[in-house]
Amino acid sequence: MSNKIRILYIDDYELDRELVKDALEKEHMGFKVTEASNRQEFEALLKTSEFDAVLSDFNIAGFEGLQVLEAVRAHNPKIPVIIVTGTGSEEIAVKAMQQGASDYVIKRPKHILKLPQTILAAIEKKTLREQRKLAKEMLQYSEKQYRSLFNSIRDAILVVDTNRQIIDCNPAFIDLFGYSKKKILGKQTIIIYENKEEFRRMGSAIKDHMGDPGFLYPVRYQKENGSVFLGETNVFYMRDDEDTIVGFIGLIRDITERKRVEKEHEKLQEKLQQAQKMESVGRLAGGVAHDYNNALTTIMGYTELALMDADPKGPLHDDLNQILKAGRRATDITRQLLAFARKQTIAPVVLDLNETVESMLKMLRRLIGEDIDLVWMPGKDLGNVKMDPSQIDQILANLCVNARDAIEGVGKITIEMKKIFFDEDYCADHTGFIPGEFVLLAVSDNGCGMDKEILNNIFEPFFTTKPVDKGTGLGLSTVFGIVKQNNGFINVYSEPGKGTSIKIYLPQHEDETVEILKENTAKIPQGQGETILMVEDDLSILKLAEKMLKGLNYTVLIAGTPKGGIRLAKDHTGEIHLLVTDVIMPEMNGLELSKQLKLLYPDLKCIFMSGYTANAIAHHGVLDEGVHFVQKPFAKKDLASIVRKVLEE
Ligand code: ADP
Ligand code: MG
Repeated sequence: MSNKIRILYIDDYELDRELVKDALEKEHMGFKVTEASNRQEFEALLKTSEFDAVLSDFNIAGFEGLQVLEAVRAHNPKIPVIIVTGTGSEEIAVKAMQQGASDYVIKRPKHILKLPQTILAAIEKKTLREQRKLAKEMLQYSEKQYRSLFNSIRDAILVVDTNRQIIDCNPAFIDLFGYSKKKILGKQTIIIYENKEEFRRMGSAIKDHMGDPGFLYPVRYQKENGSVFLGETNVFYMRDDEDTIVGFIGLIRDITERKRVEKEHEKLQEKLQQAQKMESVGRLAGGVAHDYNNALTTIMGYTELALMDADPKGPLHDDLNQILKAGRRATDITRQLLAFARKQTIAPVVLDLNETVESMLKMLRRLIGEDIDLVWMPGKDLGNVKMDPSQIDQILANLCVNARDAIEGVGKITIEMKKIFFDEDYCADHTGFIPGEFVLLAVSDNGCGMDKEILNNIFEPFFTTKPVDKGTGLGLSTVFGIVKQNNGFINVYSEPGKGTSIKIYLPQHEDETVEILKENTAKIPQGQGETILMVEDDLSILKLAEKMLKGLNYTVLIAGTPKGGIRLAKDHTGEIHLLVTDVIMPEMNGLELSKQLKLLYPDLKCIFMSGYTANAIAHHGVLDEGVHFVQKPFAKKDLASIVRKVLEE
């Protein structure tokens, strides 16, 4: 039967073989014995058949028991070998056992009887040992795997006991913290935290998550060199077979860089959103500005003309003045929108800001009223900036109005100028600052100040804390737009109840200043009968400007289209001194028209009017030097003075 225990028995003494064979095969003991009487037979059988155990005599002619042991081990180490020896050779048997024999039996009937048990025990022992060996190998293998994972993983790993003493750590931990392994093993983990508080925080987190397999926790750690970093820590509980917690494993990752990148990303996202918002407000403003400003020009222009006819003491005069006032406010709003969207046409010139601001003080004092002191602190050796003076005007007016609104009753507003230089180091520590030479324009007040919530929103277009009829929420966003357009930056300091200081840094400009024509408020300059060709597709404005210019003693030719204007110029026999033209018109734009007309009248001077610049005459909103421009809506005075200025150039 195949499930008998198969024995290979080598012995050169036949009688012995029979004795053993009988003992094993009788009475259905369950053994099958195959005999070999010499080395050749033995080796052949070992190779061709399968056996569960080998019995071997110790003294075989030409083949020692030890050699049998060796042959079996070489063939299959799982097969146990039992030595059968004659009486009185126990010494030899012991030697055999030392060499790896499983057991020995003495050839005496009494002992032979125990042979079956001996064999079974040997087989069992061998199997057990093999199993144990295998298990041990497997354990060693998996330990080795873990160890190599432990050593090669890039996260720092720390193993601690329940007293939070360090049992083990991996090379990544050493790299991250800087401690040598020798220095850190056995220490309390408190030395790796930024402070006691962090150590304690981690301790309570460990307690709180006791029921979980592990948890993720941010902690501030400290390296051996004292530097501190934010770590994201994965804590796992180590449990024994009884499920008792015996320690903790921490996987620590330095997330400083990740946090920095995330923050940067957020900032960029915010900037992008802000840019998109500006873009859409700009498009909206640009879209309506043209028609809107044409309408405003007409409203205000005719109001002005009507005012001249009205009795200054009558009620009509007052009503018309109200219309004019509302018109100015409306003008201001579109101007703010365009400025905020950086779609405002600007004519930058090199300015001494001390002078520019000084010339505005009178207007600003009027703006803020009598209860508030305006303190003016000009700067020393300020240097120049290159900017459109009307933008300085806009900035100061907006900031002073805000300061005025923040002051209840009496108070003080300070305008201060200073020259200032930021180096790279300073800017690295101060976000938003740009290295270089700047002129600082600071407007401070001792008004109500702002809390964080408001501060975070002040540059938002349409953000206001004021009642509907008082605030538009465009003041500071306009200032922001202007400062950006001029490559400067803004810083705001404010505290509730203490006051506010808004600091504007404008890049210094090397060139010399130019003389700015101070607005002549005294008199509206009159014409001397010069001929002006006026081209404008908005008929109400055309009529208005005609009426204004005629009233100023000019000869006026008008055309509603560029082609009409060219025809008129061809048919005209006398001189044409000046072209005043709209910029955006069907057929051709104002610039193109002026070029064609110059072929007929080479000395022709030009003024462009627009409520909104397309880039037809300006490059990204900036006018070429020597190009004259009047912004719609314009008052009679504006038109009169620019016409006079250009004609007399
Ligand atoms: P508006 O003045 O139309 O409300 P702004 O853009 O000029 O719009 O200002 C936005 C908001 O910022 C104001 O409503 C106010 O809450 C706050 N603010 C601006 N300047 C000051 C200041 N100097 N002091 C206190 N709060 C201010
Ligand atoms: Mg404001």
